[in-house]
Amino acid sequence: MLPPRCASCQRVGAALCASCVQALVWVEEPICPQCGQPQEETAVCNRCRRRPLSLHIRAALRFRATLPETIHQFKYYKKFGLASHLADLMVRAWPQWAMPVDWVLPIPLHAERRRERGYNQSALLAHHLAAQLGLPMTEKALRRVRPTQVQARLTAEERLHNVQGAFSAEPNVAGRRILLVDDVCTTGSTLEAAAQTLLGAGALSVAAYCLARA
Ligand SMILES: [Zn+2]
Ligand SMILES: [Zn+2]
Repeated sequence: MLPPRCASCQRVGAALCASCVQALVWVEEPICPQCGQPQEETAVCNRCRRRPLSLHIRAALRFRATLPETIHQFKYYKKFGLASHLADLMVRAWPQWAMPVDWVLPIPLHAERRRERGYNQSALLAHHLAAQLGLPMTEKALRRVRPTQVQARLTAEERLHNVQGAFSAEPNVAGRRILLVDDVCTTGSTLEAAAQTLLGAGALSVAAYCLARA
């Protein structure tokens, strides 16, 4: 077997080398208490004031430095071996953001996209994260019932519209405190749509924990 190469700088030796890990930028207070966006002071940000979210979103790292390339490799180049390393970073930051959780649920991909990609990167992260935190995780309680456009080129308004009605939740989420796991949070519209679906199905509360905050 070939020795691993760093997903970010290609140096031989580790899947994610020490200097690329060192360069990562952690999310730190102050943040918006709702969407988790880092900012100058602890206060609900303008966007959340205009449109309050039904969940609290937290993230381990800023989408900066060596992280965008690493996530790109993880997501699109079948570097799923990175999942445990990236989940370790989420575990490291968890004590700062810990929320009460009964069930960890990854943001699902639509079946078609999952087939194309071969795996769901959020499910891999959720699997490792839940195992390390000793929490139960399931991929069966939340499904993507409608394929959606790739969000990257859409405005915040379009993103929200794009993901509305995209999810369906099983009745067994009722009465549970749900933690959604995703790789990157940008506007939070996907997480918000999933949260609305889960709350509509009777979930007690919904929060989200992402690897990266854009
Ligand atoms: Zn590196
Ligand atoms: Zn906010």
